[in-house]
Amino acid sequence: MKKDYILGLDLHGTLLEPGEVLRPELVPDLIAGLNKLADRAVLFLCTGNDLDFVNRKLPAKLRLCFDGYVLETGCSFSPDRKQELVLTSPEEQKLLKDLEQKLKDQEFPEVNYFAHRLTTISLFCDRPREFYAEVNEAARALGVRDRVMVTYSSVAVDILPRGYNKFTGLKKVAEGRKTIGIADSMNDQALLLEADFALAPKNLAPELKPSLADRGRPVIPLAHAQGLQSQSVPIASGRETEGVIEILAFLRKYL
Ligand SMILES: [Mg+2]
Repeated sequence: MKKDYILGLDLHGTLLEPGEVLRPELVPDLIAGLNKLADRAVLFLCTGNDLDFVNRKLPAKLRLCFDGYVLETGCSFSPDRKQELVLTSPEEQKLLKDLEQKLKDQEFPEVNYFAHRLTTISLFCDRPREFYAEVNEAARALGVRDRVMVTYSSVAVDILPRGYNKFTGLKKVAEGRKTIGIADSMNDQALLLEADFALAPKNLAPELKPSLADRGRPVIPLAHAQGLQSQSVPIASGRETEGVIEILAFLRKYL
């Protein structure tokens, strides 16, 4: 069967539960759900993290379900799960490296650690939603606010060059296929707004709902969705991994 779709599946807060947990008892259903879509859709993880992180955090049998990964919030990708290819320019890479050093020098008490990235900055912290404004202000004070985008997930505040996001990354590898995004957080906003179809686990960040509704995509219960529709964001009854399994079964029915 021809693959008309590409699915972009977020990691933190979507595939993974809080604490980067993937419950072993859910893995078989997850793998079965992904494999049942494999003849209809190209399957990509779509994360703010890098290749090394994906390799460390996901079991090999689950990684094998994916064709590739959109990494570093669309600033890099892996077409084969083996290599990470950077999409940003040398100028953008330098801008981000310099900024990362300046932010490290500020020694924010909120930051637990700066995660390894090739071309973005990821400040892992306990309360990204609250810390985001402070990082945004730091970027402004350092004179780079117009050249970078500051966003956040459930685990980190992320900084990337302007113009990149998970949707642009997914589009880059889509080869003209219809795009489907499954995601939960502010760093998924473009994916949820611009993919041809968007779905979310129950824990979708509440602050995303107004912008989705404003753009003609109100959240509706997945149980009320009659097939794939671009004019709403069906939301699963389960959180994170369980919600993803629900959504994969829904997609199997309607793709
Ligand atoms: Mg997420």
